[in-house]
Amino acid sequence: MPSATAGGAGACLICDRIALAARGENPTLIAEMKSGYAVLGDNQFLRGYSLLLARDHVRELHELRGAARDAFLKDMVILGEAVSRVTKAVKVNYAMLGNTDPHLHCHVHARYGYEPEPYCRGPITGYPREMRDAPQHQFETARDSGLIASIREELRVLAGTAA
Ligand SMILES: [Zn+2]
Repeated sequence: MPSATAGGAGACLICDRIALAARGENPTLIAEMKSGYAVLGDNQFLRGYSLLLARDHVRELHELRGAARDAFLKDMVILGEAVSRVTKAVKVNYAMLGNTDPHLHCHVHARYGYEPEPYCRGPITGYPREMRDAPQHQFETARDSGLIASIREELRVLAGTAA
């Protein structure tokens, strides 16, 4: 497997999270997918926020070639559909930035009809950080394990139909 530890231990937050997931020690893990790992976000300000973490440490989507690129994009869409089905979100936002953690990953944000103006019109980062980062929105295994199980089940169903 190429470069999963390219930055060395502790050099890449996402590589560290993947290593934990591979050892069964990442409580946010939803499922291992063909291209990487689906995890629930650390912040559940908008319930269902998930990420797809690329298996390999590449910076850019275009660095994935051929089947690896296809697999990542396909997994991203399946994860988005699973989150949509489970949360009944009115919209799914996909965001691939990587400016802070330059290891390919996609944020999958569920968006809801109850969101107020003007925040409902823009990216989730438009909300004030103190709102998003309030303690009650942080991941909690006891509260969020059911959500993880529901998304995992939808992934299983969709993986069987989207091949
Ligand atoms: Zn990495």
